[in-house]
Amino acid sequence: MRRLHGVRLPHYKQTSDMAFETLPLPEKVVIPMSMHMGKPCTPTVKPKQTVAVGECIGTSDAPFSADIHASVSGTVQAVTDLRLMNGTVCKAVEIEPDGLQTPFAGLTVPTYSDRKEFLAALRRSGGVGMGGAGLPTHIKLDPPKKIDFLLINAAECEPYITADDRTMQEKPLTILKGIRRIMQVLDIPECAIGVEENKPDAMKIISEAAAKDPAITLVPLPPVYPQGAEKVLIYHITGRTVEEGKLPADCGVIVMNVSSIAFVEEYFSTGMPLVERGLTVDGDCIGKRCSLQVPIGTPIRNVLDYAQCDYEKLDRLISGGPMMGQCLPGIHHPVTKTMNAVLALSEAEKRRTTACIRCGRCIQACPHRLMPTELEKAYQKRDAVRLEELKLQICMLCGCCSYVCPANRPLAETNGLAKAFVRQQKEAAK
Ligand code: SF4
Ligand code: SF4
Repeated sequence: MRRLHGVRLPHYKQTSDMAFETLPLPEKVVIPMSMHMGKPCTPTVKPKQTVAVGECIGTSDAPFSADIHASVSGTVQAVTDLRLMNGTVCKAVEIEPDGLQTPFAGLTVPTYSDRKEFLAALRRSGGVGMGGAGLPTHIKLDPPKKIDFLLINAAECEPYITADDRTMQEKPLTILKGIRRIMQVLDIPECAIGVEENKPDAMKIISEAAAKDPAITLVPLPPVYPQGAEKVLIYHITGRTVEEGKLPADCGVIVMNVSSIAFVEEYFSTGMPLVERGLTVDGDCIGKRCSLQVPIGTPIRNVLDYAQCDYEKLDRLISGGPMMGQCLPGIHHPVTKTMNAVLALSEAEKRRTTACIRCGRCIQACPHRLMPTELEKAYQKRDAVRLEELKLQICMLCGCCSYVCPANRPLAETNGLAKAFVRQQKEAAK
């Protein structure tokens, strides 16, 4: 099969052999009411109210949403406004922990007798895609079409990040049980787990755990970024193409992140909603790089202190990887459900931008063979029609073009701005 284009990146997977440690409880958590695609939740608690771990503190009537739960036991201090990484503002619940981590008494192990009850239980779990997208899991597992292939995304192709790798090494049986549960409830006959070959320990552990199950295959993938992009992964593993404007379900596939699968299984085994997540902490300002289990809502400052961050050198804080991650607005921003890494980088990693030398490398590197230079020009002219002609809409913002550019032009970032511009134009025309 023809392989899509991409780039070979340095891996920097230095935390691959570092087991998850538990971060000491912070002095407060700040839990945003929007950590998912869809409608933000409305807080259901008030200041001075005591809460327990796993208690629902935010919900929404909208079907496209995911409940939010307390990650610590303690007392609600305030319901405030919080600016998110995308610039929008949402409500957030501040809780002062009591240090006891008392589980909510109302939690029960979910039971179900059919798909409808399974999805209703998932809705109460607060589960979302933990690889970064944040699609509520009960929506993802309720596709409008018949699915015949479950694809587990364990590529983790961005440099530095090893949260999925660690989850595979530490929870292989949970992952396999979760896969079988979903295959059984959704009546899916076949599953593949796509893993980049730069994770030999995880591959060995998962393939041993899956050895006796012919319906589940582990597929090693060459470490060519963006191997973990949904459409790229579907094409490389199944040979199916997701047409422009279509969803994976349109070609019979559901793609799930491997850590999300582990969460689903833990939820159906314990009844504990999504209240913590695994995080890679790395970068050249970090003195003690590590893998951490962190309560949702923990201020990044606590994570950085634990990892012995050199604040004097610190220039940029990134949530996620260096290719597609987002700059964090500050050290007080909380850990969210979709945050899989915190990178603390110094000025030394910045590159100077110069004029385009028309080398064409950006086009060669683009998995969709888009023309980033033309997109850049069209955005500079604010030409929405030309941007659409150039297929801006299929750009994944993967960053391959920016990475290979010898002039260090911020091509992917420009495409991100261009997408926002086109969206605004369409809204204004309604
Ligand atoms: S960011 Fe967009 S234009 Fe650049 S390589 Fe990725 S898909 Fe292509
Ligand atoms: S890779 Fe950079 S320098 Fe080369 S054509 Fe693209 S934008 Fe210009």
